[in-house]
Amino acid sequence: MRILGALLITLIITAHLAAQDQHRAVAERLKDQALTDMASYEMLKELTSTAGHRLSGSVGYEKAVRWAQQRLTDAGADSVWTEPVMVPHWERGPIEKAFARSGKRTVELTVCALGGSVGTEKNGVTGRVIEVRSFEEVRALGEKARGAIIFFNRPFDRTRVNTGEAYGGAVNQRSSGAIEAAKVGAAGVLVRSMTNAIDDEPHTGMMRYDPAVPKIPAAAVSTLDADALSAMIRGGSDITVTLRLSARSFPDVLSSNVIAEIRGSEHPDQIVLVGGHLDAWDKGTGAHDDGSGVAQSIQVIRLMKKLGLRPKRTIRVVLFANEENGLKGALAYAAREQNTRERHIAAIESDAGGFMPRGFGVTADSASFARLSRYAALLEVAGAGRVTAGGGGADIGPLKPFGTALIGLSPESQRYFDYHHSNHDTIDKVHPRELELGAVAMAILAWAIAEDGL
Ligand SMILES: [Zn+2]
Repeated sequence: MRILGALLITLIITAHLAAQDQHRAVAERLKDQALTDMASYEMLKELTSTAGHRLSGSVGYEKAVRWAQQRLTDAGADSVWTEPVMVPHWERGPIEKAFARSGKRTVELTVCALGGSVGTEKNGVTGRVIEVRSFEEVRALGEKARGAIIFFNRPFDRTRVNTGEAYGGAVNQRSSGAIEAAKVGAAGVLVRSMTNAIDDEPHTGMMRYDPAVPKIPAAAVSTLDADALSAMIRGGSDITVTLRLSARSFPDVLSSNVIAEIRGSEHPDQIVLVGGHLDAWDKGTGAHDDGSGVAQSIQVIRLMKKLGLRPKRTIRVVLFANEENGLKGALAYAAREQNTRERHIAAIESDAGGFMPRGFGVTADSASFARLSRYAALLEVAGAGRVTAGGGGADIGPLKPFGTALIGLSPESQRYFDYHHSNHDTIDKVHPRELELGAVAMAILAWAIAEDGL
């Protein structure tokens, strides 16, 4: 009996090692194919030049939908389809200007409307500018804030090595600043751009309103001009700011998520999702955010088809609509999970830029996390062996209640926010080999999970 038990254990270990060896061989082939073809970069070049600006509700987004369907078909996916979703439609329009006045001196500030902001009257809104660094400071202003322009100027924490953490520590000024300022009667909001870079480029991004307080206009100001305005405020009293924006919202628009898959040979109802978001801000061409994730996801299917790999479980690419200003695509996709026999065992999102992959951040139960951690050595084939707890992505987040393991590609983070949501986010900032290695890392992980289960 004891001999039989020992034999069984030996067999299990041998089978496990054999599977690891097979994964390793597949991983090497995926890497070699990707680094030979460099197809992710070619696709990203196409997407950013043919669709360009592709914010929800725009003509560019619908061009991107058609482009993605075509490229997924070319990649050899077993099926390609779209699913409808209503999305917001907001446009910044041609005017975004701001001026700071101190006595007779007038300084122009480089600004851009935050996504979702209301516009101003033709002559803009003018008020005394008050600099703050926190919502507590705003609340403490009381009556002084009435009619003022509140200037949120808390910078990124430069001591954070992971710039995503610095972003997380500053971004509430952009997302909720207009609500907090409106509560104390302010007339408008300027927010320091969400970046470590000190330059003259404003960075847009999502902001919210609260129906209980007035909607006041909100704009991002470049970090150079944020520093200049702050110096003006320190140097004198009664500095006023005028803000002019032509932004406006239109009725929601019918749009779509783009989906494609390779059907699993043994467990087709078990899904390993790979994805990113197809929309992008109307600044730059969304090369890193999130054209990179789109190109890498399509490449996962392309590589598998090219190498004749058929996974045991279904590998599905989802290119989500409207991540940037509403998350409607992600919510619509997760809602369908209730009405289907399918089960998403894991979802892998690339939405942190097309930089050199370092690993994956995982939000899952401890057993799944332990199993995923065992792929670290395998993922080193793409230089992406760092598997850490915590992470995922905005688009896959709504799958959490279904027990899906949420996995975010973690690329090198130092440059991401230099470009993020600004005119700097263009193809020339993407390194072809780094982008490709991100796709390889995603393909290796998707393959291993689709073969082994989770
Ligand atoms: Zn993004």
